[in-house]
Amino acid sequence: MTAVPLMNIRAQYEALERELLSAAKRVLSSGKYINGEEGRQFEKELAAFTNTRYAVSTANGTDALILALHACGVGRGDEVITSPFTFFASAEAIARVGATPVFADIDDKTFNLDPEKTAEKITVKTKAIIPVHLFGQPAEMDAFLALARKHHLYVIEDACQALGAEYKAQPAGGIADAGCFSFFPTKNLGGFGDGGMVVTNNPEVAEKVRLLALHGSRKKYFHETIGYNSRLDEIQAAVLRIKLKYITEWNNRRREKAAIYSEELQGLDLNLPAELPHVRHVYHLFVLQSKKRQGLGKFLQKKGIATGHYYPRPLHLQTAFASLGYQEGDLPVAEAASQCSLALPLFPELAEADQMKVIQAIREFHSQ
Ligand SMILES: *Cc1c(COP(=O)(O)O)cnc(C)c1O
Repeated sequence: MTAVPLMNIRAQYEALERELLSAAKRVLSSGKYINGEEGRQFEKELAAFTNTRYAVSTANGTDALILALHACGVGRGDEVITSPFTFFASAEAIARVGATPVFADIDDKTFNLDPEKTAEKITVKTKAIIPVHLFGQPAEMDAFLALARKHHLYVIEDACQALGAEYKAQPAGGIADAGCFSFFPTKNLGGFGDGGMVVTNNPEVAEKVRLLALHGSRKKYFHETIGYNSRLDEIQAAVLRIKLKYITEWNNRRREKAAIYSEELQGLDLNLPAELPHVRHVYHLFVLQSKKRQGLGKFLQKKGIATGHYYPRPLHLQTAFASLGYQEGDLPVAEAASQCSLALPLFPELAEADQMKVIQAIREFHSQ
């Protein structure tokens, strides 16, 4: 048993047990488990939360990206530019629709996709850009939207880590052509299983995602196109509706705890997360950079403090993308970030005393 875990996804269940169980029971006894009222209501609520006109649920965040790309007409022969420093799914979705992922390097302060490096990668084949709001901090959306206008591209936000984040007071996910969310259990809004959502203000994109998600069918047993089977089930929707009521409070607590780390770890030989002044970061993860990442991680582990490594190998160097022909050294900022990243325990329920233990241990490591 680790004394201070990296995250504790059971804590929310314990705090909301009665409410969650009664919602699950309501669904179980309803006899309606797929495509029901809970799912419809949750879509409406998430659209309102992200200030978008449409929300369509999917089976997971990866499918949200795949369906959004497919709905925007991205496919074989197209290129889509994204970050090499993100979870695999951001690029996997691009390859899954038959397009080619193109990786541009990241900004060395926020670790988000760099708009200038992105501009250098645009070709006649480029059809879309997927900025990822990494670790809960929105990417520089104005710059990506300007690139998209100039080159007639779609912009799809990978907001899987950023529900409740804001860019210039606009909700993450609700800014570009489409935004994709994941409700994987460890995400800021996590279900008790998989789940995802596409949000958009574009009625055609919304309709296409809906059609694709339901086997390409509008009318039962009549199929207009080859689609997918990708939906959020009623139990997950019911649970997520309850949790959505608390997400702002939970995100605020994440922000408070992140501010404590940033304050208390100042002056050590570390790079702390840089929060841009015009964004609201929701600290899905609190990731610092240390040249002694491995030593620090081991030191903390000995003291019973868990840490995480997001992400140990940038996507352009993954075996799955070997055929794209990238070499080590091609995207140096992402490569350095992957060597030095260390995530500290951070979740809304993290106890003050536990956080102090983490801070003390990191100070102790640096005083040796
Ligand atoms: C979690 C995540 C996904 C995929 O979501 P799933 O629900 O696990 O399929 C995609 N992109 C990013 C950045 C993520 O963190």
